[in-house]
Amino acid sequence: MYERNPYEMALEQLNKCAKIMNLDPNAHEILKYPKRVLCVYIPVRMDNGTIKVFKGFRSQHNDALGPFKGGVRYHPNVTMEEVMALSMWMTWKCSVVGLPYGGGKGGVICNPKEMSIGEIERLSRGYFYAISRIIGPEIDIPAGDVNTSSREMAWFMDEYSKWKGYNVPGAVTGKPVNIGGSEGRTESTGLGVAIVGREAAKKLNIDLKNAKVVVQGFGNVGYYSAYFMEKLGCKIVGISDSRGGIYNRYGLSVDAVLEFKKKTGSVVNYPGAEVVSNEELLERECDILIPAALENQITEKNANRIKAKLILEGANGPTTPEADDILHKKGVMVVPDILANAGGVSVSYFEWVQNLQGYYWSKEEVFDKLDKLLVKAFNRVYETYCNYNVDMRMAAYICAISRVVDAMKTRGWI
Ligand code: NAD
Repeated sequence: MYERNPYEMALEQLNKCAKIMNLDPNAHEILKYPKRVLCVYIPVRMDNGTIKVFKGFRSQHNDALGPFKGGVRYHPNVTMEEVMALSMWMTWKCSVVGLPYGGGKGGVICNPKEMSIGEIERLSRGYFYAISRIIGPEIDIPAGDVNTSSREMAWFMDEYSKWKGYNVPGAVTGKPVNIGGSEGRTESTGLGVAIVGREAAKKLNIDLKNAKVVVQGFGNVGYYSAYFMEKLGCKIVGISDSRGGIYNRYGLSVDAVLEFKKKTGSVVNYPGAEVVSNEELLERECDILIPAALENQITEKNANRIKAKLILEGANGPTTPEADDILHKKGVMVVPDILANAGGVSVSYFEWVQNLQGYYWSKEEVFDKLDKLLVKAFNRVYETYCNYNVDMRMAAYICAISRVVDAMKTRGWI
């Protein structure tokens, strides 16, 4: 999924940040590597009666702050190095928002689009059983990611509970609400994008009542980001999906666009809006741009033409390092993925807390707690951004790494 080796990219970011913050070389040495990577081979009985063996991984990067936490992806292009990189990024994401978690990530090399539901269920149960000895509410808590959703989380939780002999809802997050999932988890990533957007707008003196917003991607993150930005008073002037984009400078109704997409399969040709290409949409007139689809969308090729003053990274890795430099020089603030889309992992944390205490919160309570958590995290990063005179991404990394290193020092690891 990444053009460059993702583990090398993760190391480069760590090295760059280490230099700026003058990181203790011993801490740096530990942080370069995951603590453990497990590789498993999972035999699955296919519908035609044959056995096929799938390869999967679980990488546990650092648990100085608490148990490892991170999703499991199903994709033909999964590699061990990708999973290792993603587990390191999870360490930073959990740390920057102040969660008591370290970083983990899992992946299985498979193409679920070519598998039946029964085959996916047998693969999911087989994978979870294979990694079960290094999983648990106090050890490592997996969740959904690319091509895995609440359905797979229910199978994971059930398989783990069977292995233990009693119900263990806290071993997995992103479960359906009727078996211990949290209210508000579905909306949480998009809501988080809007919360950090609101805080960033205050710092940049952007008046949200008149702000124009473009959202790339209209899936879970894109739709809810647009929905909550609209609730804050913004005008959503552009929306896109994999088939193309639409633009109307007077504003689009987010729910009407969703209805249209449900009927026709795409946002393209929504009445009263101009059809634009995905590339063009990113460069259209707006105050706030929310890339919420794929990685590597803002590059050195288009960064100079971007008109937004503020970019909120709903997706993971939408901006390349070269584009980051261009945008920083242009005075565009980029709120990085590890902070902007951390609403999801934060509500996963709330789900785990509710599972451990066996006491469940209302959606309002969840949203209120998420707001407080993200405002605090945003302000911490913003302060670092001002003190170090770096971009917001580096500031977020400095905050995240410092918190992990402090915990490692306190525990006597270095
Ligand atoms: P999703 O599959 O629900 O939606 C993806 C959307 O992007 C779809 O509308 C798709 O049509 C659109 N898309 C695909 N290619 C496109 C293109 N070239 N141009 C414009 N749109 C395009 O996925 P999601 O859960 O919303 O995740 C989106 C991103 O957010 C991913 O990078 C994911 O890793 C990240 N993320 C998701 C969560 C979460 O809780 N879902 C949490 C953190 C980060």
